Amino acid sequence: MKALAPTHWPTIAKDISGLAVPPNLADYPATREAFSWAEERRTLTGLPGGHVNIAYEAVDRHAAGDQGHRDAFRFVQADGSIHPLTYAQLSHETDRFASLLRTLGVQRGERVFSLLGRVPELYIAALGTMKHGAVFCPLFSAFGPEPVRQRLDLGSGAVLITTRALYKRKVARQRDDLPSLRHVLLIDADGDPEPDTVDLAAAIADVPDYGPIAETGPEDMALLHFTSGTTGRPKGAIHVHDAVTAHSATGRYALDLHPDDIYWCTADPGWVTGTSYGIIAPLVHGVTAVVDEDEFDPERWYRILADQKVTVWYTAPTAIRMLMKAGAERAKQYDLSSLRFIASVGEPLNPEAVVWGEEAFGLPIHDNWWQTETGGIMIANYASMDIRPGSMGRPLPGIEAAIVARDADGEPIVHDGEAQLVTDPDVSGELALRPGWPSMFRGYLNEEERYRKCFVGGWYLTGDLARRDADGYFWFVGRAGDVIKSSGHLIGPFEVESSLMEHPAVAEVGVIGVPDEVAGEVVMAFVELKPGFEASESLKRELIGFARKRLGAAVAPRELEFTTALPKTRSGKILRRLLKARELGLPEGDTSTLESGR
Ligand code: ATP
Ligand code: MG
Repeated sequence: MKALAPTHWPTIAKDISGLAVPPNLADYPATREAFSWAEERRTLTGLPGGHVNIAYEAVDRHAAGDQGHRDAFRFVQADGSIHPLTYAQLSHETDRFASLLRTLGVQRGERVFSLLGRVPELYIAALGTMKHGAVFCPLFSAFGPEPVRQRLDLGSGAVLITTRALYKRKVARQRDDLPSLRHVLLIDADGDPEPDTVDLAAAIADVPDYGPIAETGPEDMALLHFTSGTTGRPKGAIHVHDAVTAHSATGRYALDLHPDDIYWCTADPGWVTGTSYGIIAPLVHGVTAVVDEDEFDPERWYRILADQKVTVWYTAPTAIRMLMKAGAERAKQYDLSSLRFIASVGEPLNPEAVVWGEEAFGLPIHDNWWQTETGGIMIANYASMDIRPGSMGRPLPGIEAAIVARDADGEPIVHDGEAQLVTDPDVSGELALRPGWPSMFRGYLNEEERYRKCFVGGWYLTGDLARRDADGYFWFVGRAGDVIKSSGHLIGPFEVESSLMEHPAVAEVGVIGVPDEVAGEVVMAFVELKPGFEASESLKRELIGFARKRLGAAVAPRELEFTTALPKTRSGKILRRLLKARELGLPEGDTSTLESGR
């Protein structure tokens, strides 16, 4: 089906000639054509015998020599004070954690879970676990007892690292239901651990030196990451040590990392972005990674950007929309002149937000697309690229992306074992990737069938609908399950949301389809207003009229409701399926990742 017209936003042209830091991917597509994963692997150090270990590439190889004195992490604590950790210190601390795991009898391949805020112990445990050859699985500390139990159970967690309070509130009463959980390490036991737990500080005090890092093979499992649960029950995606090859390439090409960067990824490691790009990619490039231990607050975030002199900033649409809500003037009160590159992931980035970046920071915001399953960025607006606001960008070196044609029932069309690709520009279908990049997931834990179904006719099907324009830019249409069919039109919620976002009163929008006898479905919008605007019948009419002018009557929302809290996942994604279930009075389904109070 032909998708609707591209946005009216003008292209943002890039002039890279006078830049102090020349962008890494200045010669696309030549770099892309010359690229091979085998070559990329050679940029890593590797271990003898063809072994590879993420922790070695991220930490140990930088720890000796001058680089060892450089800050690997800078933790910004709640009171604003800074806790730095150099590469040499991180190497030492992760050795000790690996040694503790060995002392506790944790075997290679066993799962070590964390239930922690963004404190140093989380980052040390992640890298120490991989050093030991065990598998790390980070959980959001805000998860309730049931999501924690489900994930520990599905992942057969052998070790959990957490705090006393989190343990007591969320795990202690469920220990009997978690037979594989042998060790619970408390980071704040202070000499007095809870029953059946270990005082981490005391246990780690006298562990022996670790000795050589675990010689993991490229295909050995390194990470277990649960998806965000936006479309339903979360899946546990398995990632292997070879993924670091993709973290390295994408850190260079999509995030434009250079050796002297001060880099801030705002994501929590409970979401894959906070691991792939909050831990691995920056450290592989030897840069300094800022971590904010506290929660979002516009003033706090601007202060971090200014005080830490952040050069590369990776964040998410929901945060950008909240900053927009606070107003561009706020940004201008800070010296953000060190910022060179801003990128966003997690949800479609409204054109309005891309352009707002120029107003607030003097820099456009670069959208990029990927999933827990892909392990790393696949499609990006890279630093040297002219930006078409609203587009996800183009496939990175090493990535082959395509649009697979779908039949009337939404099933991929396959002939003789090969998926039929959409070749015409601007026709939507399912976004697909040619399997074979190193950070591709190797399975959904214990869900072989669900995994197998993702691969059809030689392609990995992403579950997202997209289109490609004549110049090779990819445009997100919607998740396959969210797309609205109304009077013969295929309507992606994103374009309706983006158009409402252009109205000065609108802070955030979620759009769904609701059944209609005549049209099949009609569009319904849930709108959160900016401060200073009051919900009213006349504003409702104004917003519907505003959308009609831009999108036409068939596509604009027929119904609109004001809300003060759109339901979102912990990773900040609008839960449209929940809006829909609530509107239609249907069961809410899996809400384990729902942010509380929404
Ligand atoms: P689940 O798979 O459990 O339903 P989820 O898909 O939200 O949850 P993630 O892996 O965290 O879990 O998110 C990946 C999805 O997020 C993508 O498939 C896509 O729908 C959306 N997404 C990520 N980045 C972008 C982007 N730049 N533009 C549009 N959508 C994006
Ligand atoms: Mg998904």
